[in-house]
Amino acid sequence: MSEQTLGMRDLLREARRREREMVRLLGRFVRCESPSGDKAAVDRFGAMVAREWRRRGAVVKILRQRLRGDHLRVEMAAEARREFGRRDGSGDRDYGQILVLGHLDTVYPIGTIAKMPFRVRGGRAWGPGTFDMKGGLVLVLAAVDALRAVGMRPRKRVVFLWTSDEEIGSETSRRVIESEARRSDAVLVLEPSLGREGRLKTERKGVGGAEIIVTGRAAHAGIEPEKGVNAVHEMALQIARLMKMNDRARGITVQATVVEGGTAANVVPERARAAVDIRFARVADAGRIERELRGLRPILRGARVEVRVGGMRPPLERSAGVRELFGVARGLMKEMGLSLGEAATGGGSDGNFTAALGVPTLDGLGAVGDGAHSLREHVVVREMGVRAALLAGLLAAL
Ligand SMILES: [Zn+2]
Repeated sequence: MSEQTLGMRDLLREARRREREMVRLLGRFVRCESPSGDKAAVDRFGAMVAREWRRRGAVVKILRQRLRGDHLRVEMAAEARREFGRRDGSGDRDYGQILVLGHLDTVYPIGTIAKMPFRVRGGRAWGPGTFDMKGGLVLVLAAVDALRAVGMRPRKRVVFLWTSDEEIGSETSRRVIESEARRSDAVLVLEPSLGREGRLKTERKGVGGAEIIVTGRAAHAGIEPEKGVNAVHEMALQIARLMKMNDRARGITVQATVVEGGTAANVVPERARAAVDIRFARVADAGRIERELRGLRPILRGARVEVRVGGMRPPLERSAGVRELFGVARGLMKEMGLSLGEAATGGGSDGNFTAALGVPTLDGLGAVGDGAHSLREHVVVREMGVRAALLAGLLAAL
């Protein structure tokens, strides 16, 4: 135990020494813009990240995608395998696997960097994607460097999966995320931490989306409105129903977010459409919410209501495995003389998929900062060393 304590202090020192290097690399990452919808841009950034890993001797596999950016699978063999494992690699599973999840894409369109350039001011590094989550991608590179510097090594094989479409629902990456998770003993997610104290996320709500389309009948709003069926009126009634589905105590929220309808100011609208955001704390509630949505029936005579329910991202529940993993992280922070908190959040991440498979998942291990998806997005530079040391400690301890 005393040896381990010494290890964490050494890791912290090594990681802190790399803070300037981390900020420099973060600047390069942020200037290489990578919005989810732009394959060429995401691939450019992916190539940059791949180079960093190859330089460190990792095996990088590019998982090609046609429509979205390519995903990267980066593997670092457990050192133990080289010493004792079978040469064909079949000894791998004896040592287990840790999966580290991150995403290459950001929510910012190309050109955002001109309006919010990367800059370091007041101890913070500002810019699009600094916090969500290019900062996290930088931290884990420094973690690997710090481990090497003190002569420590991951106990298990580590697979880093850098995906290209997290910000738009992970449609093309979900399968590979789940198949790697099934082979893993734990999943570490580099999403931003919560609050100024950098709390980890041990509970996340499930996320779903739906679309409601109402069809009525157009008519002149002044001359013969009685011949029309007002689709916007019908939609308003449906939204009132949706609002009744909210259940704070159970952690269920249902919100109509984007609403459109009508064609001209003097026409009874024939069509209306609403996007619906759905969040839920328990796996068991997903089906019930979906059934309720599909069960929506028109209220006005002559109106038609169609409900399309999209894929549901299951919640990350605070299971025993999650609590245990958090305990390890907190212990490592304690060895550095620091505390670590945990929190629940309404936002989803790819950690939701892995946790739903029953694989212990620790989320929010990325940078400390604020303002994700906004003009004031930034990370706190002074915390980068600590976070990198924590990641290094986890890779060595798990
Ligand atoms: Zn993210």
